[in-house]
Amino acid sequence: MSSSHVLVLNCGSSSLKFAIIDIHSGSEVLSGLAECLAEQQPLIKYKYDGEKQTITLSAGDAHQVAITRLVELVKHLNLDKQLIAVGHRVVHGGEHFTHSVRITPEVIEAIKQTSALAPLHNPANLLGIEAAQTAFAALPQVAVFDTAFHQSMEPTAFLYALPYSLYKEHGIRRYGFHGTSHYYVSTQAHKILGLDKDNSRIVSAHLGNGCSVTAIKNGLSVDTSMGLTPLEGLMMGTRSGDIDPGIFAFLVNQLKYSPTQVDLLLNKQSGLLGISELSNDCRTIEEAAAQGHEQAQLALDIFCYRLAKQIAAFAVPLGGLDTLIFTGGIGENSDEIRRKVVSQLGFLGLTLDNEKNLAARFGQLGIITTTNSPCAVVIPTNEEWVIATDAATIAQEQ
Ligand code: ADP
Repeated sequence: MSSSHVLVLNCGSSSLKFAIIDIHSGSEVLSGLAECLAEQQPLIKYKYDGEKQTITLSAGDAHQVAITRLVELVKHLNLDKQLIAVGHRVVHGGEHFTHSVRITPEVIEAIKQTSALAPLHNPANLLGIEAAQTAFAALPQVAVFDTAFHQSMEPTAFLYALPYSLYKEHGIRRYGFHGTSHYYVSTQAHKILGLDKDNSRIVSAHLGNGCSVTAIKNGLSVDTSMGLTPLEGLMMGTRSGDIDPGIFAFLVNQLKYSPTQVDLLLNKQSGLLGISELSNDCRTIEEAAAQGHEQAQLALDIFCYRLAKQIAAFAVPLGGLDTLIFTGGIGENSDEIRRKVVSQLGFLGLTLDNEKNLAARFGQLGIITTTNSPCAVVIPTNEEWVIATDAATIAQEQ
C-alpha cells in the first residue's frame, strides 16, 4: 500500500501537540505533547503502540529542540518513510485564508501580517512551521486555519457596530475560531443523520477549555459566538465571554488596572474559575457542586444559561433549529450540562431522552433527544483528522 501518514502539528506558545495519522485507516499511529517549552522542565510525552513514554528535555529548550527530538523519535520508530505531508494548525488566518493552503513564502508572510490579530498564537504557529520546514525539507507543509470555516459569514454577522474605518484600516471584525472542529462535527452530522446538506439548520457547540457555538446553514457557517479574539461569546474555563465593554474603562479608571491586567483578568481569571473561585475544570466544578459548593453550582448555572441563550439566538440566522451538536471535552462528557441546556430549550421543541444522554459519554457518539424532538446529538470532535486529510489532499494536488 502507498505511504499514507501525515504529521499533524499544533504549536502553542509553550506547548506542541503532535500526531501521526494514517489517512487510509484514520488511526493515530503516534500522538503526544511537548509541554513547558522554554521553561525549567520541558518534556515530551507520547503514546506509540499503546505504550506511554516520556522524553525529558533540558531547561530552556523550546520549539526547535522539541521538533528536533520529535524528528529523531519519528526516525527511530521508522515512521519517517511513510510521511507524505505535515499539517499545521494555524489559529488566525484573518481574511486572507478561506480554506487550507500549501505553505509558501507568501503564505508565511500573510500569517505574519495576521499576527497582530493573534499575538500569542500566530508567532508560535510560525515557529512550528519554520522548525518543521527545516526538519522535513522534502515534505509539503500545509496550513489549516481555525478561522477559515467562518469566512462565509456575512458583514451583518461579522461587523461590530464600531466606526467602519476600524474594520477597513485595521481588520477589526468578528472572525470566529474552532472552525476546524465545527466543520468536522457538522459534516459528520450530515453523514450520520442523513441530513440534506442544501437544507440543514445546525447549531454546533464546541465546549472545551475554550467554548464556542456556531450557526451552520446548508453546510456554511453563518454566525459564531467568538469574535476578533477567542474571548467573545460564551462563558469558558477561564475566559469571561461577553461582558459590558464599559467594564474595561471601569477597571482601568476606577480600580487602576493596567490594560495588561484587564486582559489577564478576562482571559485567565474569569469564567468557571472566576465565579467558582475553585477551578476552571468542569469535572472539578461538577463534583464540588454535587457536594453542595454554592459558587461551583452558580458557575454551572451561569455557564448553561448563557449557552442555552446563545443557541436559541442562533435560531434567528438559521430560521429555526433542526440539529444541535455537542462536542469538545465538556460537550462529549458532561451529561449534566447537556441536560441543563436542553431543558432550557424546550420552547424550541427539544426534549431530552435521559437514558440516551447518559449513554453518550467518553467518546461515545449518539442522539440524546426523543424521536419527535429536533435532534440533539453528541459527536466527538477530531480536528487532527481534518488537518491530516486537508494536508494529504493538498500535498497530492501538485
Ligand atoms: P481543550 O479545549 O483544551 O482541547 P477539552 O476539549 O479537552 O479542552 O475539554 C476540557 C474540559 O472538558 C475540561 O473542563 C474538563 O473538565 C471537561 N471534561 C472532560 N471530561 C469530563 C467529564 N467526564 N465530565 C465533565 N467535564 C469533563
